[in-house]
Amino acid sequence: MATDQAQSEQHEETYEQFEERITRISNVGNAAGILRWDQEVVMPEEGTPARAQQLSALSSISHELLTADETGDLLEELESSDLEDEQQAAVREVRRQYDRETSVPQELVEEISETTANAHPTWKQAKEEDDFEQFAPTLEKLVELKREYAEHIDPDADPYAVLFADYEPYLDLETAERVLERLREELVPLIDAIQDSDVDLATDTFAGEFDDADQEALARDVLDALGYDWGRGRLDTAPHPFSSGTQFDARVTTRFEEDDLLGSLTSTIHEFGHANYTLGLPDEAYGTPLGDSRDLTVHESQSRLWENHVGRSQPFWGQFLPTVADRFPELEDATPEEAYEAANQVYDDNLIRVEADELTYHLHIVIRFEIERDLISGDLDVEDVPEAWNDKYEEYLGVRPETDAEGCLQDIHWSHGSFGYFPTYSLGSVLAAQLYDAAEDELGELDDDIRAGEFGDLNGWLRENIHQHGARYTTPDLVEEATGEAYTADYFLEYVKSKYGELYELDDY
Ligand code: ZN
Repeated sequence: MATDQAQSEQHEETYEQFEERITRISNVGNAAGILRWDQEVVMPEEGTPARAQQLSALSSISHELLTADETGDLLEELESSDLEDEQQAAVREVRRQYDRETSVPQELVEEISETTANAHPTWKQAKEEDDFEQFAPTLEKLVELKREYAEHIDPDADPYAVLFADYEPYLDLETAERVLERLREELVPLIDAIQDSDVDLATDTFAGEFDDADQEALARDVLDALGYDWGRGRLDTAPHPFSSGTQFDARVTTRFEEDDLLGSLTSTIHEFGHANYTLGLPDEAYGTPLGDSRDLTVHESQSRLWENHVGRSQPFWGQFLPTVADRFPELEDATPEEAYEAANQVYDDNLIRVEADELTYHLHIVIRFEIERDLISGDLDVEDVPEAWNDKYEEYLGVRPETDAEGCLQDIHWSHGSFGYFPTYSLGSVLAAQLYDAAEDELGELDDDIRAGEFGDLNGWLRENIHQHGARYTTPDLVEEATGEAYTADYFLEYVKSKYGELYELDDY
């Protein structure tokens, strides 16, 4: 008995040391996050050389702390002790990061980081000049380096699966592949049917020019309406909107374009979803995996749930359109139905992912997924990417890009060396539909709440079932806990078929 107690006190002490260490690592990372936010939002143009050094210094401090022998010893000791469930979960998360970071040689990490730093301007220029040849050698190099990186982490695994796990560690690649294949199989005919439909939606409801300052006021209105906590957040502009931070300070950025009021509004709601997730993480677990968000699939499920299931819904436009008309009197005569239609039109000629509608969006993702998977496996050569890209656009979306700038050069991700990131966008949308359905199962239909501008019940459900758990559960377990079911695309497909079947009066949907 006495020995047991002594042993358990020893474990407690070890766990405290472990917690202290991982909190320090997390603080270094969060400080880097603020520097990155500053760089995107307010840093003067010439600040880059110093900022790059600051970020690189923080990144090596964090790497050294994580991969130090002390961390390894603490993990080993804790893994052989009798831990509570939550402690076990924290150890599991740190073990995973530790194993990944210690298996990749530091020179390779530095080479990747240097190559991506240089890749960014190369990609940008290639895109501006519509010249894939300029970017091809860099892309080739990044593919090689990332293959090597994957090989160090797990020489026996499919390298693309290893890379994918950087963004979504717990839904395996087979699941992702199955879901994306199903999206392709079921969305292509649905989009074809929409293109054959005679229904003309009110697409020009938001046509016009809208002042930036008024758009910003409206963005603040929508954040107010959704319940954003201004005591722990703020709104700024950035060329590529994002949100970042911690449960104490989760910031939103957006962008305003004179002729795209709707785009700015939906992007603000999207980023609200991300920030709102972060704000729902438990305060008391700050600095540990239990106070940190699950990975990209779950994060994106939160942004898509607010953007699509709330922000693109009929009741939302019934509720929010008067606020829009207050800011923009020229929209006074628009009806909620027209606003709803405009927010949900399906484009028949869009080539650009970030401008895509809720439906065709996923084919943009499927295309990137198929191409990057083949690139990493070696089934596709870099020089053949533009043609493969264009062929797939023609096959899945019925449009063929005329330039690489509007084709395979449009997105920044590959220049970051981010292969395996794209699928999480679609996987997140799929999860959003599953969660929304589960929330309605428990709370009843949410249309009336949304029509009344009441989001407390929905948010409460998300807090309880997703946010408060941090990274305690793996993604599949979290989905199971929240919905009582395994991760599935059923709800998403049901949702889009019923919504778009109705909008476009499709007989078979
Ligand atoms: Zn997002």
